[in-house]
Amino acid sequence: MKIAETVTFGGSRLDRAAEMRGTADALKAQNDARAVLLWRGKPLICGDDLLRLPLDHPVMADASAATIFLGREDGVPVFSADLSEWEPEGLDDETLNSFLDPSEQRHPAVPDAAFAELRAVMTRLSPRDAELAATAKAVTEWHRTHRFCARCGAESAMAMGGWQRDCAACGGHHFPRTDPVVIMLITHGNSVLVGRSPGWPEGMYSLLAGFVEPGETIEAAVRREVFEEAGVRVGAVSYLSSQPWPFPASLMFGCAGEALTTKLTIDPEEIEDAIWVTREEMADAFAGNHQTILPARKGAIAHFLLEAWLSDRLD
Ligand SMILES: [Zn+2]
Repeated sequence: MKIAETVTFGGSRLDRAAEMRGTADALKAQNDARAVLLWRGKPLICGDDLLRLPLDHPVMADASAATIFLGREDGVPVFSADLSEWEPEGLDDETLNSFLDPSEQRHPAVPDAAFAELRAVMTRLSPRDAELAATAKAVTEWHRTHRFCARCGAESAMAMGGWQRDCAACGGHHFPRTDPVVIMLITHGNSVLVGRSPGWPEGMYSLLAGFVEPGETIEAAVRREVFEEAGVRVGAVSYLSSQPWPFPASLMFGCAGEALTTKLTIDPEEIEDAIWVTREEMADAFAGNHQTILPARKGAIAHFLLEAWLSDRLD
């Protein structure tokens, strides 16, 4: 495995068993079948582990009937189940909607475990648990927001173990979406280009990023986004590493790009600030010793790429 694949959510070679999706209902009836649980996008965690529960566990009384077949672990079918309809007592909506929701919800049927924000726990999970949680969260959110057929507007139904929605009215089939995003380590000599968006924690700077547009290559998207956001022209672009990012449905393409120009012209509609930071300054920021700059959050591919750049391991 390349170092690049060790990024958080980089994958654990889960056997997704796509060929068995058509028989998911029969797999669900197996005694050894297990489910991971989500509540409003938050996975059920016990300690540092994603919990896998039997499908007849009492907590499943609060789960919606639709489950998603995630794959097999040592031959055991693993599903995800959604408990979003459950109303915990004393719910604080404001905390729940904050960027990094620190609250945890405990269901009385599994008192030792808690539903926790995936961003907050992602670096503690094993690669397998992270892959299962990210997949479950992304597909569950897709179903929540794609109940109706995009062709004719009729209500569609989940099919193929949750990996498809079928429309009985027009015969249309719909598949879970992943939106491509480029995120780029733009360097010029010994310096890297970083920016910040409004609303980020004070001092936090990260790599520039943006959605790939229809009809565009990854390389072209890197050059366009950097010019739009910071006014910098980029020459050679190379692909480094990818990261599924289920917030809610992105696939991050981590790229390296060489800046041809250094003058910064910020587009305030897109970013609040952009700066060139030397390798020494970034090393200080990563060590927590920089006066003004906070690095990208651990677990995000920006942090991973910057760390690799600092240690000369961009492979
Ligand atoms: Zn339709």
